[in-house]
Amino acid sequence: MPLTPEQLAEIEEARSEPRQTLRATAPGMEAHLYTAHPVLDHGLVRVIDYMGDDAAITQAARVSYGRGTRAVSNDEGLIRYLMRHWHSTPFEMCEVKFHVKLPVFVARQWIRHRTANVNEYSARYSILDREFYIPAPDQLAAQSTVNNQGRGAVLEGEEAARVLDLLREDAMRSYDHYESMLSQDGQQGLARELARMNLPANIYTQWYWKIDLHNLFHFLRLRADAHAQYEIRVYAETMCRIVKDWVPLAYAAFEDYRLDAVQLSGKAAQVLRRRLAGEVVTQDSSGMSKGEWREFEAVWG
Ligand SMILES: Cc1cc2nc3c(=O)[nH]c(=O)nc-3n(C[C@H](O)[C@H](O)[C@H](O)COP(=O)(O)OP(=O)(O)OC[C@H]3O[C@@H](n4cnc5c(N)ncnc54)[C@H](O)[C@@H]3O)c2cc1C
Repeated sequence: MPLTPEQLAEIEEARSEPRQTLRATAPGMEAHLYTAHPVLDHGLVRVIDYMGDDAAITQAARVSYGRGTRAVSNDEGLIRYLMRHWHSTPFEMCEVKFHVKLPVFVARQWIRHRTANVNEYSARYSILDREFYIPAPDQLAAQSTVNNQGRGAVLEGEEAARVLDLLREDAMRSYDHYESMLSQDGQQGLARELARMNLPANIYTQWYWKIDLHNLFHFLRLRADAHAQYEIRVYAETMCRIVKDWVPLAYAAFEDYRLDAVQLSGKAAQVLRRRLAGEVVTQDSSGMSKGEWREFEAVWG
C-alpha cells in the first residue's frame, strides 16, 4: 500500500465523520469517498469529492424543479437516449474530484486531457519521495514487432533481470544525487526547483484532478482502451469501477454505446450491406486501405 500510517489515519478520520446534507448523494460513491485504491507499485486513485448522481443527469435534461417522480426505468431510458444521441451537457452536471498518485511519464499522457482542473504537488516547494515505478515482471516487455506504439513478448531470464537492475540502479543513483544536491545538512546546495532536474520520468508525482462526467467518459474511452499504454490504462480501469458504482445507469449506457460499441465508416457500412446481400468483398474491392480493412476484419471477420 502506498500510504503512510499517518495518511491512512487521516483517511480513516475523514470517513468516520458522516455529515448531514440536503444534496443528492450516491450510495455507491459514498462507499468510495476518500478511500485509496492502489494502482501500479506506489500509485493510487481516490475520490475526494463529487457532485450529482444518475438522477442529476435526467433532472438537468428535463430541467425539473425537484428530484422528479419518474421511475428508474424512465431515467434509464432517457440516459441511454442521451448517450446514444451524443447529448453531452446533461452528463456535465455531474462532477468528480480525484486524488491521483502516478509516475511522471503517465502524468505526461494524462495531462493532455485539457478539460479537467488540475493541481499538482510542487517539487519547487517540497522534496519528492524516493518512489519510482518499476514494472512488474509480466509488464517488462520488448518492443512490439507489429505495432510501433506498443509492446510485444515479455522479457525473461537474464535479460529481464538485467533490465530490472538497470531501472532500479538508475532510479536510486539519480535520487541519491538529487538528495546530495539539495540545500540541506549545512551545505548551500541547489534549490529544489533545480535539483529535481536529474530525476527520471518513473518518479511518482501527485495531483488533484477534477472533471465533469461527460469529459471523464471521453478520458476513460481513450485510456481504458486496449490501445492505451498499460500504465495509464490501469488507472482508467480503476476509475471505471468507481464511476460504475457512482452513476450505474450512466456507466451502463457509456459501456454499451462507447466502450463496447463499434464505429462504422461509410465504406465499412457499404461492405457490410454488400456482404449481407451475399457478395464476397475483398480489401481491393472494398475501397478501404490495408489498415482499415485489417481493423474491419478484426471486428467482422
Ligand atoms: C492511444 C493513444 C495514443 C496517443 N499518441 C499520441 C502521440 O503519439 N503524440 C501525441 O502528441 N499525443 C498522443 N495522444 C494524445 C491524443 O492525441 C490527445 O491529445 C489526448 O488523447 C487528449 O484527447 P482530447 O484532446 O480529445 O481530450 P481533451 O483535451 O480532454 O479534450 C476533450 C475534447 O474537448 C475539445 N477540446 C478541448 N480543448 C480544446 C481546444 N483547445 N480546442 C478545441 N477543442 C478542444 C475536443 O473536442 C476534445 O476532443 C495519444 C492518445 C491516445 C489515447
